[in-house]
Amino acid sequence: MIAPGSSIPAIPAPARALRNQPIRQLRDWLDRLAETQRLAVTRPGVRLKFELAAIAKRLDGERATYFPAPDGHGVDVISGLLSNRNWIAEAMGVTPDELLTRFQDAVRAPLPWHETGEAPVQTIIHREVDLNSLLPSPTHNEFDSGPYITAGLMITRNPRTGIQNVAIHRLQVSGPDRLGALLLPRHTLGYQQMAEDEGQDLPVAIVIGVDPLTLLASQAIVPMDCDELEIAGALHGAPLDVVKCLTSEIRVPAHAEIVIEGRLLARERALEGPFGEFPQYYGERGERHVIAVDAVTHRSKPLFHTIVGGGLEHLVLGGIPREATILETLQRSFPSVRDVHLAPGGVCRYHLYVRMKKRFEGEAKNVMLGAFAAHYDIKHVVAVDEDVDIYNPAEVEWAVSTRFQADRDLVVVANALGSKLDPSTNDGVSAKMGLDATRPLDAPEMKFHRIRVPGEADVDLEKTIVSDRWRT
Ligand code: MN
Repeated sequence: MIAPGSSIPAIPAPARALRNQPIRQLRDWLDRLAETQRLAVTRPGVRLKFELAAIAKRLDGERATYFPAPDGHGVDVISGLLSNRNWIAEAMGVTPDELLTRFQDAVRAPLPWHETGEAPVQTIIHREVDLNSLLPSPTHNEFDSGPYITAGLMITRNPRTGIQNVAIHRLQVSGPDRLGALLLPRHTLGYQQMAEDEGQDLPVAIVIGVDPLTLLASQAIVPMDCDELEIAGALHGAPLDVVKCLTSEIRVPAHAEIVIEGRLLARERALEGPFGEFPQYYGERGERHVIAVDAVTHRSKPLFHTIVGGGLEHLVLGGIPREATILETLQRSFPSVRDVHLAPGGVCRYHLYVRMKKRFEGEAKNVMLGAFAAHYDIKHVVAVDEDVDIYNPAEVEWAVSTRFQADRDLVVVANALGSKLDPSTNDGVSAKMGLDATRPLDAPEMKFHRIRVPGEADVDLEKTIVSDRWRT
């Protein structure tokens, strides 16, 4: 992983404290990105099939993208809004090292939403719906079955209690008023099954174009019957404004760009997929749930957000809320754990790096077993000491190369539950591997003492380097 000739970078100094107000509006975030040269606006008319995703991916993690009138469509498309973890910290108004604790605080103390009567998202109302003409839904990856809505927050209500759930599900545009939805065995499916058992359709609202923190909150790993919009409010530091849908009791963010109102149909399934997913492979085609669309509402001149399947925005958005939950779970049993990171090389799901101050010999192995228990997606865990920067894969590799011995420090668990989307598993049955790359506690002082050039971090290059010419 280390490029030839490159040295192991030192741990970066903690980022300068930047305590800003959290970003509460999508358009404010676009302004921030634009002011700081992180928004690329393309020529009008980029093609929705492949070309839009190709451009977004070329700029993945570096610049967000804005596509005016793609394919001549009246609605502009945006992508890559949160494809970098430092940007997410910035949107929260905290430093990157405060990101996980801030998110944990919001999960612990959600803020109930505030209902309003008038909402920008209901400025324009369509009751006769043709999704193909209303929305510029792009096709991203080579073998995707067609256009998809990928950044739609699906809001449903528990049919018994009325408590809302928010989640992103991939949505295939299957017809003028039909969407195919992949519901994994999580909360939306739980509510849908309650309704279906009574022979009822389940009302849904699909919200496209929300502020960055509401988008992040939708990915929180919380128990059923925790309304993720309340976590969004806590991240904003102010209750989220919501408005009642026209065709159901669902409350949606009032300042969103677009809302699709519809129903998950009871006992109806249709073919959906394949679709390019986060592991960089296709999720297969199969019989999936069907949504009938009853209405679409939007702002005047709305923006359509799309998340390119398998791109960094897809990975990072899912990764950070998982890290927050895994860290909290581990720290409950192991106060020695300092930080965790789901590395992008492990698609922000499968590879967990744990930074810890080992107190007892053997403790790192307990921590790794705890990590496997914390989320079934975690496949490989590397435990390292406090002096390793877990956000730098080369540093983690260095720790493995110099502090790990396979006969002594390796943990393997056979036939455990893993991710069904990992093609190397046997339909989700997977091995787990832990690498303890921590130093032995009784090692002599200098044996694992990392080399360091005194003053390296303090060199003022601006003042020191005066020229690039050596022949005078
Ligand atoms: Mn949920």
